[in-house]
Amino acid sequence: MLKLPKSTTTHAPAELFTGDVYHDEIALGVAASPLRVMLVRFTPGARTAWHSHVNGQTLHCTDGVGYVGTRDGRVVELRPGDTVWTPPGEWHWHGAAPDKFMSHLAIWEGCGPDQTDQDESEWAEHVTDEDYLAAREASSATD
Ligand code: MN
Repeated sequence: MLKLPKSTTTHAPAELFTGDVYHDEIALGVAASPLRVMLVRFTPGARTAWHSHVNGQTLHCTDGVGYVGTRDGRVVELRPGDTVWTPPGEWHWHGAAPDKFMSHLAIWEGCGPDQTDQDESEWAEHVTDEDYLAAREASSATD
């Protein structure tokens, strides 16, 4: 058994996120394991840019209220205990509600020799305020 050292909280890069987002690496696979687990904390209104994952991704909400949106306009509201799977190659974004913090565990598989995100995730443009607010509307319409 080994108690791991506390991770360093890192401010997410502005080119990939809108608003202030902080993440902590929880688990990183060793040797042949591609596992990655990260706690991501979004401030109100903050969200990722549009992106997709080669091997898909599981998002498990631990706190607050947020959304996951896809290119076809579908929106899932995230509340504590909710788990969402985005399949391989599906373009999506995730983030907090405009007036709430939101934290989730992101669980996915890296690739490449150093298991970094660079080969595993494809990133595109930021989510516009228009698309973000439309997601909020779509979410509240299904409450
Ligand atoms: Mn994702």
